Amino acid sequence: MKNNDIKLKPLKPILEDSDIIEKYTALNNELIDTKRELTKANIELKRMNEQKNKLLSITSHDLRGPLGAIRYFSESLAEQLAGRTGEDNIKMLKLITEQSNTMLLIIENLLDFTKIEDGNLELELKSVDMNILVRESINFNKLIASRKNITIEFLELVFPVIVTIDKSKIFQAFNNLIGNAIKFSINGSKITVQCNTDAGFAVISIIDKGIGISQAEITKIFEPYYVGSKKPTGGEPSTGLGLAYVDRIVNLHGGRVTVDSNPEQGSCFNIYIPLLAKTPDE
Ligand code: ADP
Repeated sequence: MKNNDIKLKPLKPILEDSDIIEKYTALNNELIDTKRELTKANIELKRMNEQKNKLLSITSHDLRGPLGAIRYFSESLAEQLAGRTGEDNIKMLKLITEQSNTMLLIIENLLDFTKIEDGNLELELKSVDMNILVRESINFNKLIASRKNITIEFLELVFPVIVTIDKSKIFQAFNNLIGNAIKFSINGSKITVQCNTDAGFAVISIIDKGIGISQAEITKIFEPYYVGSKKPTGGEPSTGLGLAYVDRIVNLHGGRVTVDSNPEQGSCFNIYIPLLAKTPDE
């Protein structure tokens, strides 16, 4: 038989053309409806999220003032009464100062974090010497550290490390990192804070010999509201907002945060902030 003798039968279409068009039109209409519903749900979710953030912001804003007053007056009273009243009274006053500091830290994190998420946080930039700001943060945390007999060593640079930053926001970031170092260290251990420069950045390292972080958890710790599996050593509160705050605020300054940690050996958090002026080692 020759090749051109083969007669090919036309294939029978699985569906007639009109059926296909009808099916696709129905599917398309379904997709359009689903998209419309998703858009509506998204708008509603956005509105609810904004309401939640507003509520958080109003409540924390209203709590900040009275708490600031409690902290200020308890601190002043402890200073004024030193030597004129019993040690127990001074201890109680210091405890009030310490607890209000912790509450203020949580409130500031909440307030600023919601502002960052809504894109409403405006930085008030000023030239600052990092050495001085880090020292202020160490002093702020000394009282809390002393309760666990933790010492904080500061290795500062001999020359000014000038950066353009929102001082109160970066101060808060240092407080979060130093506060965590204290929270996750055992009684009597030592924390080292180091100020350095590297390739156009001021680098502040907070090094502890605490409980450390596992490799599985290290990728999650900067997520908002993430709280690790190991609890703080002194029963301190955990909100899971501290590191998320540090990460976002440092990014807003054009910097970055890195971490290196080993379980049971300790952690090292580094904050990189772009330098304003050139320093002698550049
Ligand atoms: P919080 O400290 O309120 O739990 P953070 O966002 O500051 O929230 O930290 C998230 C988690 O990262 C902590 O719950 C803890 O598991 C871990 N972490 C942070 N800093 C340290 C540290 N210095 N040592 C050990 N774990 C830490």
